[in-house]
This record gives sequence, C-alpha cells and structure tokens, in this order.
Amino acid sequence: MTHQESLSRLKEGNVRFVKDHLNGKLQDSSRRNALIGGQEPYAIILGCADSRVVPELAFDTGLGELFTVRVAGNVANSSSIASIEYAVAHCGSKLIVVLGHQSCGAVTAAVAGGDNGYNLNHLLGHITPALAASKENASVNDVVKKNAELTVVELKNRSSIIKNTVTSGEVKIVAAYYNLDSGKVDFLD
Ligand SMILES: [Zn+2]
Repeated sequence: MTHQESLSRLKEGNVRFVKDHLNGKLQDSSRRNALIGGQEPYAIILGCADSRVVPELAFDTGLGELFTVRVAGNVANSSSIASIEYAVAHCGSKLIVVLGHQSCGAVTAAVAGGDNGYNLNHLLGHITPALAASKENASVNDVVKKNAELTVVELKNRSSIIKNTVTSGEVKIVAAYYNLDSGKVDFLD
C-alpha cells in the first residue's frame, strides 16, 4: 500500500467514525490468529495519551492496521521517535500521522508556563518551539496545530531512518488535528 492509499483509508475510516457507522472489522479471533506471524500496519500514528482521542476508533481500524505511539502532547522525543523508526524500518509502514487534538492538556500546560516538576517540564520542553513559533495571544488549539506541524519536521530532523525514507518518497508524514466535538480529523497539509 502506498502512502496515498493509506491516507485514503484513514480518511474513509474517519468519515465512518464521525457518522457513528463504525464497521468493527478485523477485531475478532480470526484476525488475531492471522497476525500471530507478524504485522504490517499501513499507518503510524503519533498521538496524544488523552483518553478521548483513540486513533483506532477515530479511523475505524482493527487489529494490526495502525502502529500507534501515544505520549502526552504527541511530542517527538527519543522514545517516540525510536518506536516510529521500528515501524518504518521493520513493519513497512508508509504513512506517519502526527495527530494533535482540540483542548490538549499538555499544550494547555505549556501555554500556561510555570514549573510543573522534572518530568512534565521535560515533556513540555518539546512543545516550547511551537509556542515560540505562535503569535503572542495564540489559542491553545492554534498552538496544538503548530506543534503537530513542527513535530513533523522534528521527526525528520532527529531520525536519519525517517528522513531517508521521506526523502526517497517512500514515506510521507502529515500533521492532523482531531476535533473533540465532531470526531473529525482535519489533515493540516
Ligand atoms: Zn493531549
């Protein structure tokens, strides 16, 4: 499957999710058994840990379809990048989606600033470039979108495995934004 085909499948699945028409396929015992020997997820999702934003549901996918990496603020840190590298190098995934979402708590905390303790400060440091690139009074949701877009760049800059496959045209990375109210995913480019 090419990255164009992968993107089309995600968009079609999201339409079903928005319309409350989930097909629920590929979630049964026969699918589980078919995947014992390996996986070939057609897309990688770098999403937030937020319980309201569940990629497998938002794109109406089943077992083995998405390689999902979730971390608050959908940031590109060493662990999330390494996970994505695995899927690119060993699972043949051709599309990477950086999925930000409406009212993200991590981005809200980054916008608010202040000392949030060692661990969260470290994580929020990955969102700082998006803050710096946003207008003075930018809304949280605007910063969410900027963060997703800059994370696309970060994935390439910080990983030769990802960069090389993107440069060759084999892999594509896109930024996207999930609307909590409608469930619709807006692709940002
Ligand atoms: Zn979030």
